[in-house]
Amino acid sequence: MINSLEIIEKMNPNQKINYDRVFQKVRASWEEDNIRPRILLHSCCAPCSTYSLEYLTKSADVTIYFANSNIHPSSEYERRMKVQEEFITEFNARTGAQVGFIAGAYEPQVFLKMVAEKHLQEEPEGGNRCSACFQMRLDLVAEKAVQLGFDYFGSALTLSPKKNSQLINEIGLDIQKIYKVSYLPSDFKKNKGYQRSLEMCRDYEIYRQCYCGCVFAAKQQGIDLKAQNRAAIQFLRIKKE
Ligand code: SF4
Ligand code: SF4
Repeated sequence: MINSLEIIEKMNPNQKINYDRVFQKVRASWEEDNIRPRILLHSCCAPCSTYSLEYLTKSADVTIYFANSNIHPSSEYERRMKVQEEFITEFNARTGAQVGFIAGAYEPQVFLKMVAEKHLQEEPEGGNRCSACFQMRLDLVAEKAVQLGFDYFGSALTLSPKKNSQLINEIGLDIQKIYKVSYLPSDFKKNKGYQRSLEMCRDYEIYRQCYCGCVFAAKQQGIDLKAQNRAAIQFLRIKKE
């Protein structure tokens, strides 16, 4: 199974890496070898997983790993997880795909401790706290991928125009050096991927959250977390009924 570093090393070092092109070359190697790899793909809620799954399941078997201890409050975490699971069920039913779903442990204190130890509370969204947050979650995905014998681990977050895909890919490529599993580079927003995700969100009637996830960014953004909590609890109650 090809490791994307073999492809990246042959690219022009003076040019910004197009990670979607890297992915396409990795995929071409699967086709050449007639293989369908198993990918553990991190996602923090359904929207970024929509087009990412549509794109990947054409050539691979994908399982979503929901490992997001950064999300606050816990009701919102439960809500996003529920929406993610429901989307996968519906996506499988409509497309015949067999996307799996695994939920990691919800350990918000681990995230909060990491932020406090690194003094990242006041960082703006997109700054050092986010790098550490991507690192923490991708590390968990790599660990789980090794445990379960996946061929690759990756992230659906490169679909979001608000997220730095270059950084996410660099972190993923760095993490693969310490785990016996390859990182799958991506830039799912390319090829009109983001627009397609909006269409899919409408079509599948997917909840799109209004803040990234952590309490720090939510407060900076002026999100009413009490109202958010009430809405999430109500959503979960309706689902139970
Ligand atoms: S980046 Fe934002 S929209 Fe994408 S999965 Fe994470 S929380 Fe959802
Ligand atoms: S804004 Fe999003 S990516 Fe950044 S630290 Fe908060 S939850 Fe993580």
